[in-house]
Amino acid sequence: MAPELKKTEVVSPEVAAAIGDAVARSLGDALPKIIEAIRAPGPLEQRQIAEAEKEIREKQDERKKMAKQVLEDIEAKKQMQATCSHEHRNGDGHCVHVQDTLPHGYCLCQVCQIRVRPELSEEYRKLDPRAVYNTAMFNRLFQKVPSGGIFE
Ligand SMILES: [Zn+2]
Repeated sequence: MAPELKKTEVVSPEVAAAIGDAVARSLGDALPKIIEAIRAPGPLEQRQIAEAEKEIREKQDERKKMAKQVLEDIEAKKQMQATCSHEHRNGDGHCVHVQDTLPHGYCLCQVCQIRVRPELSEEYRKLDPRAVYNTAMFNRLFQKVPSGGIFE
């Protein structure tokens, strides 16, 4: 009986390389085409790829649409804040005072949602970049905050 060979001893690396060379030589120019054909996606895979690409495109369109909507909303809000007097016709304010972590808090217009803060250092402004920093405006609005409108 032949001695049992270990799996690694069935074909030595040299023999394996020689077989590989022989196969490659016999296939010649056909080899790259065969490899390409093996790697090419089948009809099912192609359909899945097309579906995935369509899904990605739809999601991208959706995101673009949402981003556009957000920008339009911001623009509309800015426009409203620019034209809002933050006051009733009778001169009463529309604002409430909100005390948050920044010094003096802010006046919030309940009509246009503008946040008006006194002028603060750049460090503080970074914490609320969308607020308006205008001490005179803050003081004017603060004076019209109805009593009891101060939230701590
Ligand atoms: Zn307003």
